[in-house]
Amino acid sequence: MMLKGTGASDGIGIGKALKLTDQPIVYEDVKVADPAAEKERLHAAVQVFCEKNEARAKQMDASGADGEILRGHIAMLSDPYMLSQMNEQIDRGTCAEKAVDTVCDMFIAAFQATDDAFTQQRAVDVTDIKKELQKLLLGIEEVHLDHLPPDTVLIVEELTPSMTAEIDRAHVSGIVTERGGRTSHAAILSRSLKIPAVLGVANALAQISSGEELIVDGNAGEVYTDIDETMRAHFAAAQKRFAEKTALEEKYRGKPTATKDGISKKLYANIGSPKDLEAVLAGDAEGVGLFRTEFLFLDRSSMPTEEEQFEAYRTVAAGMRGREVVIRTLDVGGDKDIPYLNLKKEENPFMGFRAVRYCLANSDVYKAQLRAILRASAYGNVAVMVPLVTRVDEICAVRALVKELQGELREKNIPYKEDLKVGVMMETPAACMIADLLAEHADFFSIGTNDLTGYVMAADRGNADVSYLYSPLDPAVLRAIQHIIGAAAKKGIPCGMCGEAAADLHMLPMLVAFGLEEFSVNPSSVLSVRRALAALDSVSCTAVAKKVLSLETEQEVRACLSDLQTEN
Ligand code: PEP
Ligand code: MG
Repeated sequence: MMLKGTGASDGIGIGKALKLTDQPIVYEDVKVADPAAEKERLHAAVQVFCEKNEARAKQMDASGADGEILRGHIAMLSDPYMLSQMNEQIDRGTCAEKAVDTVCDMFIAAFQATDDAFTQQRAVDVTDIKKELQKLLLGIEEVHLDHLPPDTVLIVEELTPSMTAEIDRAHVSGIVTERGGRTSHAAILSRSLKIPAVLGVANALAQISSGEELIVDGNAGEVYTDIDETMRAHFAAAQKRFAEKTALEEKYRGKPTATKDGISKKLYANIGSPKDLEAVLAGDAEGVGLFRTEFLFLDRSSMPTEEEQFEAYRTVAAGMRGREVVIRTLDVGGDKDIPYLNLKKEENPFMGFRAVRYCLANSDVYKAQLRAILRASAYGNVAVMVPLVTRVDEICAVRALVKELQGELREKNIPYKEDLKVGVMMETPAACMIADLLAEHADFFSIGTNDLTGYVMAADRGNADVSYLYSPLDPAVLRAIQHIIGAAAKKGIPCGMCGEAAADLHMLPMLVAFGLEEFSVNPSSVLSVRRALAALDSVSCTAVAKKVLSLETEQEVRACLSDLQTEN
């Protein structure tokens, strides 16, 4: 059987299916006959909880992550008050699972009722503790993504960024999901892990059995079951071809990035954490064109402090040794929810209270981040970039904050970069329409095609039903890109692209023709883009662009650019 989805990360994965489903926590609420034995059962579960979390915290510390959140969970549960409340419930005949439910819910409600955002965040911790403790009591086994059998193909409803961050890359040969598109953050992360992935496979969980052998073709977006010898041989050959292509790309390691006729380009990488630095250096990128800082805020139960952020930004700035590092300020919202920020549930989160809108309205959060970036700017070649700009006032307000914070740091003799560049992420139709006005206030532009495509086409980037509309090669999106690059050139400011389209080999001739200067791509795509650029001649690209811009449909554009790729 062949299941169709969207190819989100290239390569062929062969392995055994492992389905990840969130098991429901169901228990029988019976009156206990022996409260002493029930309390013993609870204490045994608490002890296992503490041992497990201490071991996990140590592991996180060792890998450079922060284990303190988990130690906080242990401290909370070791608090005699919480435990004595649970014991009291059991003394009244309540079962341990129900006692955990009642007491944790009481703490959750109390924390949620405070006005203080920090205390409110403790409610998320207690929810985590409650779930884990109940699973221990009920003997529900958890699947740990960092300890998987070799050659595992993960089948999940939706891959969250935090799951992807935990994945044991050496043992996962493929990923299949029911939801998500090529530019979802999970897809971007699976590409950086170099794990073949097919997303958006309808009913994958129902159609695939755990343990069965699968082939994941991340290129074609296809998943095969009922594997026989012929298929195994066919895909083993495809795996070999993929390895050969990778070997050809390797020849471009350490080479400058330029077109065939010698026009130099900057080839940077996108990252989400200091941990990605290794991949950036291994991938041979010349800088970081997008540091998605919201990933520092995800996968934890409270806000990272200014110090923690400073440490992360400084590590990247210093690690890149003078090469440019563009730090994008918090892009919360859309498909990136941060539960402890307690954002309202919105009808339409992609058009809601997100990114710079949230930051300017929450100046404490924003100032802490900007101060951390400014302090880190003393350790490398740092620039800052503002996401989801739609108006000139937004970029002016950010610049004013940067100036104010620079004044404060100066007074305290804390070093920072005086001429910190402040750029605008061009990812909304509004920003495109007023690109000339924004260029007056921005030091640089970087085109975010992931969102720009969605907003220009009015097609959600993660919705499979409208994915036929979601294409950066659509004539509408191509015109928007051309317009933005043109506006930057007119004002004489640099323009880059950090959306996934910057690594789309179909797109490259158009971007060369439009005069894009900087390409910021997934670290794993750097060498493939350098190789493709080296094969392009700018004069021919201009001729191609003229032809492509006369075409009326995305299909015609794609066909025209595909022919060109085959010729090369
Ligand atoms: C974009 O929108 O193109 C982009 C690079 O940002 P993100 O994918 O994080 O929204
Ligand atoms: Mg974006």
